[in-house]
Amino acid sequence: MNISTDFPGGNIKVLTISGDYVRVECDLRDTEGDWFYWAFCVEGAGGRTLTFDFGKDRIGYFGPAVSHDLKVWNWAGEESVAKNRHSFTYTFTESDPVYFAHNMIYSPERFDEFLRANNLKARTFALTDKGNEVKALEIGEGDKVIVLHSRHHCCESTGTYVLEGVLQHLLTALPKGYRVLAIPFMDIDGVINGDQGKNRRPHDHNRDYIDQPIYPSVRELMKYAADNNVKYQFDFHSPYHIGGNDDKVFLVRNLLNEAGQDEFAALFKEESEGLSFRYFADCDIMPNTSWNKLISPTSTKFFSNLPTTELSFTLETAYFGTNDNAVSQNNLLKLGNAFGRALCRYIERH
Ligand SMILES: [Zn+2]
Repeated sequence: MNISTDFPGGNIKVLTISGDYVRVECDLRDTEGDWFYWAFCVEGAGGRTLTFDFGKDRIGYFGPAVSHDLKVWNWAGEESVAKNRHSFTYTFTESDPVYFAHNMIYSPERFDEFLRANNLKARTFALTDKGNEVKALEIGEGDKVIVLHSRHHCCESTGTYVLEGVLQHLLTALPKGYRVLAIPFMDIDGVINGDQGKNRRPHDHNRDYIDQPIYPSVRELMKYAADNNVKYQFDFHSPYHIGGNDDKVFLVRNLLNEAGQDEFAALFKEESEGLSFRYFADCDIMPNTSWNKLISPTSTKFFSNLPTTELSFTLETAYFGTNDNAVSQNNLLKLGNAFGRALCRYIERH
């Protein structure tokens, strides 16, 4: 049996293996404090039933996300996970590689596949210091810009599924006069390496909207914003691991155009009605409440202070959801479609 992290997004530390019991922990790397992302591959375990124990709550309600090809992800199931969510148990029917992860990984390969399937070409928006390409997709030809991005925190994959869903809708329904700049992986190095990304030292990508940004993707985007007429900006994230609001979909509100945010929230709620995973508009984090203190130099703070921007916020999408409102790859795309429909309706009204 071999446990590896040799794939985009891989992250685990194997502490001990005794018989069928494997003690593991998240690899925090340059994270300040604790975080919860992990992903690993098990090969050659055919016929065995193994337990993987993190020693703390590191697994969702439905067990780990499981994949055999890094493309299709499903939950292993509630019965696979211990009550305290410290460990999960899995029976391997064959020796081929099985991938396990905290959340359903959205890889750079998946975005390339989306581009190919829709006959689209991305351009190189920036090169990281490690030489990785930060890709940007532009659609439409108008002079008013909608900026969509995700993975300022590289482990937060649900945001990128939602972003793909928004793009799916806008490909055929983008209002006249508009164009989209979409950057799916702001921290592409972290996405490839399988880093946590959140609270990266000295600061993470969503704390880099400062006078001298240290990350090329942020630096280029700030330049882009100065030279283009950005009307809308939406940053797609995943929240904390699990529980309470973090099981939901919610907007992180700010002080720019609060009536517009109310209106958008109502439209998004309406458009997601009837979906198996939806936005209820009942747990948005209002400005200056809870942790939303509006002091950090985030993308949304930067864009909401531009003279051109009319609406700008962060959308947080749960990693797992709940039994009656559960995350799946398809459900996340449909939520993104609904966001796209809400955005088009909003734009048409204004
Ligand atoms: Zn985030």
